Amino acid sequence: MSVVVAMTGASGNMGQAVVREVMTLSFVRLRLLFLDEKRERRLKRKWQKRYRDRVEIRFGNVKDLDDCRWLVDGADYVVNMAAVIPPLADRRPDLARDANVTGVRNLVTAIEELPVQPKLIHISTVAIYGNRNYLHPWGRVGDPLLPSVYDEYGMGKLIGERIVLDSKVDTWAVLRQTGMLYEKLLMSNISDGLMFHTPFNVPIEWVTDRDSGVLIANILKADHERGAEEFWKNVYNIGGGAAYRTTGYETFDMGFAMIGGGTERFMRPNWHATRNFHCMWFSDSDVLERRFPFQSGSMADFWSEIKRKNRYFSLAKLLPPSWITALVFKRLLTDENAPYRWVKQGLEGRINAFFGSKDEWAAIGERWEDFPVWCKGGVDGHDYRSELEPAYADRCALSHGYDDKKPNGEIDLSDLKSAAAFRGGECKAASFDKGDLYTAVGWRCAEGHDFQSSPFTVLKAGHWCPHCVREGRWNFDLLAKKNPFYAQVWYDSHRQDENAVYWFDEDHAPRYEVTP
Ligand SMILES: [Zn+2]
Repeated sequence: MSVVVAMTGASGNMGQAVVREVMTLSFVRLRLLFLDEKRERRLKRKWQKRYRDRVEIRFGNVKDLDDCRWLVDGADYVVNMAAVIPPLADRRPDLARDANVTGVRNLVTAIEELPVQPKLIHISTVAIYGNRNYLHPWGRVGDPLLPSVYDEYGMGKLIGERIVLDSKVDTWAVLRQTGMLYEKLLMSNISDGLMFHTPFNVPIEWVTDRDSGVLIANILKADHERGAEEFWKNVYNIGGGAAYRTTGYETFDMGFAMIGGGTERFMRPNWHATRNFHCMWFSDSDVLERRFPFQSGSMADFWSEIKRKNRYFSLAKLLPPSWITALVFKRLLTDENAPYRWVKQGLEGRINAFFGSKDEWAAIGERWEDFPVWCKGGVDGHDYRSELEPAYADRCALSHGYDDKKPNGEIDLSDLKSAAAFRGGECKAASFDKGDLYTAVGWRCAEGHDFQSSPFTVLKAGHWCPHCVREGRWNFDLLAKKNPFYAQVWYDSHRQDENAVYWFDEDHAPRYEVTP
């Protein structure tokens, strides 16, 4: 008996890897929604030739509800990978909203309308966690969600994920994808100022596109063959595990080794943001690995493979490093997405968001001798190697405001009230059936907004007030003052006396205002 797997975003980097792996399952028939664009038209011809009647492809857009209805009707599974990611999301916020928010709402609506619903796997992102650095390098599902200032992608994905969590879809799972390694990573990164948003001293756990594809295939296989009941109605982090845990500095160092250099040979400390970035090491990426083994290889394996496939990279070694710096990186510094350009232009909102202030940027300087590099043991009081050990994860685990070791079935009203109080608000429910995590209850935030959400969305997934955290505006400086749940990580990279609200105006110009 064949199984219809409907997918959005199948033409993307993750999507193509997922299609490759899922099509090794002989029981699968694919149904895909493609944008009517050149790249997709070419891929459509290629896949129809390769997979013949096992694949059905239609041109359309998730922003149109009728296209979503066509996609999900009669499907057994829906895998939503549609996303507009940075740098495109930074340049075209309208497209980002269509894919990351409206598209999710349409898919959910189309599924809810059906008498027999497909199961929904929604791909979310590590970007929704926001600010992390060496003070809390480890994180897990349930941690606070503080998307980075001016990151339309992170904010849109947060809202999209919440639509799934509080939907009437019977069977869903949310997978938060981490930074993904794929063949064209190096080349696509040296074409935009975006790479300078990654601070040198941030923790990153990568995963490869291949392993991500294997994971999705293994989930579908396990659920089809034996029913993976315990998997559904939950949120997970996708990460490559120990062999892929590293930092921003080391990532650049390994990538630039391909072209005969390294972080310090090609770059300067003050080119990169020092905060407002989102990666972390996952203390819970082993949850999916134990159930659906998918992790393979290591960072080193990934880069050797890239080197093997791109032998011409080694030609760059013939050039003096100063030439590469001049030809590639100095040019990128003037890109409109580059923090260095913002400093030169005096874009205060951007400078404050990514550095704290112009003075803090000026204090970084150009010399590596003066810049503390965490992974080289240069940050006082931080032994990078021992912090990388999973045993350290428990020591820096964030509180979720209630006893999160309790089995779900044991969670009672006192846990809801305790979690709400830790967020500076209250749970309005007068009664609660112990363990009933998926029925919405009433909450009030510290700002006095009332909202309905399931206990799962709040306690287990880390979401809070949808009126405070919304598209196009970032006011965590103010929210963290009354919300200890946010404060425990926000002040790792922000001063207590910062009082900025950041937003985009109608022309998508970055604005900010300091409130008294
Ligand atoms: Zn609120």
